[in-house]
Amino acid sequence: MPNSIFNSIQYLKSVGPKRAEAFKSVGLNTIYDLLLYFPFRYLDRSTIISSKKAREYIAEGFDGELTLIAIVESSEVLRYGKKSLLKVTMSDKMGHFDCAWFQGIRFLKDTFVPGKYYAVSGKPVITKYGHLQFVHPDFDRIEDAESEDFLNTGRIIPFYSLPKGLKEKNIGHFSLRRIINSAVNQYCGLLVETLPYEIITAEKLLPLQSTIKNLHFPDSMDLLQKAQFRIKFEEFFYVQILVAMRKYFVKNINSTIKLSFKSRLLKTFIENLHFDLTDSQLKVLTEIRNDLESGKVMNRLLQGDVGSGKTIVALIVMLTLLENDYQAVLMAPTEVLASQHFINISGILENYGINTVLLIGGQSTKERKNALELIKNKRRSIVIGTHALFEEKVVFNNLGLVVIDEQHRFGVVQRSRLVKKGNNPHLLVMTATPIPRTLSMTIYGDLDISVIDELPKNRMPIKTVLRSEKKLPEIYNFIIERIKHGEQAYIVYPLVEESDKLDLKAAEEYYNLLSETYFSNHSIGLLHGKMNWKDKEIIMRDFANGKFNVLISTTVIEVGIDVPNSTIILINDAYRFGLSQLHQLRGRVGRSDKKSYCILITKNEYLHNFKSPIINLDYLSPTQKEKMKSIIRLNAMITNSSGFDLSEIDLKLRGPGDIFSTKQSGLPQLKYADLVVDKDILIKAKEYAFTIISDDVKLEKTENKLIKNVLEHNYAENIKLSLTP
Ligand code: ADP
Ligand code: MG
Repeated sequence: MPNSIFNSIQYLKSVGPKRAEAFKSVGLNTIYDLLLYFPFRYLDRSTIISSKKAREYIAEGFDGELTLIAIVESSEVLRYGKKSLLKVTMSDKMGHFDCAWFQGIRFLKDTFVPGKYYAVSGKPVITKYGHLQFVHPDFDRIEDAESEDFLNTGRIIPFYSLPKGLKEKNIGHFSLRRIINSAVNQYCGLLVETLPYEIITAEKLLPLQSTIKNLHFPDSMDLLQKAQFRIKFEEFFYVQILVAMRKYFVKNINSTIKLSFKSRLLKTFIENLHFDLTDSQLKVLTEIRNDLESGKVMNRLLQGDVGSGKTIVALIVMLTLLENDYQAVLMAPTEVLASQHFINISGILENYGINTVLLIGGQSTKERKNALELIKNKRRSIVIGTHALFEEKVVFNNLGLVVIDEQHRFGVVQRSRLVKKGNNPHLLVMTATPIPRTLSMTIYGDLDISVIDELPKNRMPIKTVLRSEKKLPEIYNFIIERIKHGEQAYIVYPLVEESDKLDLKAAEEYYNLLSETYFSNHSIGLLHGKMNWKDKEIIMRDFANGKFNVLISTTVIEVGIDVPNSTIILINDAYRFGLSQLHQLRGRVGRSDKKSYCILITKNEYLHNFKSPIINLDYLSPTQKEKMKSIIRLNAMITNSSGFDLSEIDLKLRGPGDIFSTKQSGLPQLKYADLVVDKDILIKAKEYAFTIISDDVKLEKTENKLIKNVLEHNYAENIKLSLTP
């Protein structure tokens, strides 16, 4: 067997076939895999001191972070008044100290086992009773076997997460660390550099071998930071190379669409709107017009918070195309939303002699045939639909513009399927899910971005509150009060498990219950995903026309729905929803000049009012962690009204490895870098990537050979996607 990093782990010292099986079961097959299995935490031995020294330091006025390694003597929850406190008493050879937690107690109370070793880090204080005390410190459990080792070695100690599959085969933290150590010592030297030499020198980056070594067993904190920087830089660099390739690939397409902007119709249309366009809407329209006049195909993302008025912008652009004898298509992710767009737009355009066609999955054969015919034959028409638009039978007539509403619900592949139905049509994608700039630079890096950053002037802030289920009767009375003022309300039930049936049941049961009790004197409607679209459409239309006071619904109303007279949204079991989902749902109200309310209902156990995690969530069990995240999300909704702020919080909660949209965008998932924390690294890496690609889109030059090789090795799938329009 030649010496190669792609050898099985089995060939490492003290591994062998049996243990190799265990590694395999957790996805670690080769030595290379192991070299990339990085610690999640480090303990800097140089800051470990004894409790006695800690006292001396504090007495001398030191108030920085310290780490102590000690044994737990006792752990108890103390109550004082209505509050409680978790007090853990610990000792090392030189004395005792306490750790105290005032929050998160029920999550932590069983964590500290008397007689076991822990490393505790934080800023200790001396209490007025003379105790040495840490409040809410970070901590790590240390195995007995290594505690002595800790005190004797001078290194920075890595902490690896230990997958169950290894634990079960008796591979503990200590052995894992030893095995990785021998992999690093024997094989690091075989790693081939993956970043261009010029970038390494210009940015003073660590070379790959030294990076890997220092990520596992850092020689100093400084080198550890450099290694982390380098690995993140590299990850961002290759992602941005893919983004840049895609951007330059689609950017260079010439447009054959010739437009004149002198339409009378457009002028009358804008004059007849019952509101003035906001400055932001006007700015965005100018940006789009510049694209349309540039001679290149437009690829633009229109981003704007819920309710900011994106539809009207899209409609104006679509009309521009129509006035020049091109067809335009608007795709929406749900039938309810497509229907709504159809009703509103066809209503507005009726007077202008413009045809509007709806194409969605649930139509009858006759309706569909009719729609397909119109699309094929009526050039001067706006086509509105759902995924049904992808179908082969759909033949457009001189398609000049594709608009995709709620773009985040579609993947790039779907986007391009629709685009391919035309002859290089312009593309406008819209999203109401505002995402942090770092994320949009990545997943939408190939699009130009326009932002509507203001709401129409008449809007009032939405009042958001968190309430226990027990308060429901009072809340229903409040809704009835608002109904008396002529306003309407949504009552939303979540999807219980991933089953439409259960989902339907909850909404249906409550519909029956509420119409017989609280709302017996009012008219209420029911809307859910299982209804056929005609029924859905009728319900939505009736609700929009004020025929119902209350609409009971599942999450089918989550995106896009626009009924300005609706001023209350009550969301049941709100803890089940994700943050962007909650914000989208809330966006169904506050769409007029009336005061609106978003009422989040939750079980008592989620009714806490703290905003940020008071402990490192990594310490918690998966269930506890999810619960804590729900609580944070609910509180974030109360304190934040901006979708941008919420999306930052969301990104932090999800962590870098779990960003739904990178998957959809065809880009690799980020493993090491964090789009929130590592923003500056991203910007640097992006600069390099874009400079290189702008000069050599296909990476054909000799000096870019290394980049091309790495791409082909590590990102083969993603390259394909980057090079399809
Ligand atoms: P979104 O950006 O969430 O898609 P919509 O396009 O549905 O928002 O617009 C929300 C509501 O605001 C609609 O009822 C729309 O008619 C209205 N609207 C759009 N632009 C303006 C404006 N400039 N002034 C007042 N109301 C507006
Ligand atoms: Mg919308």
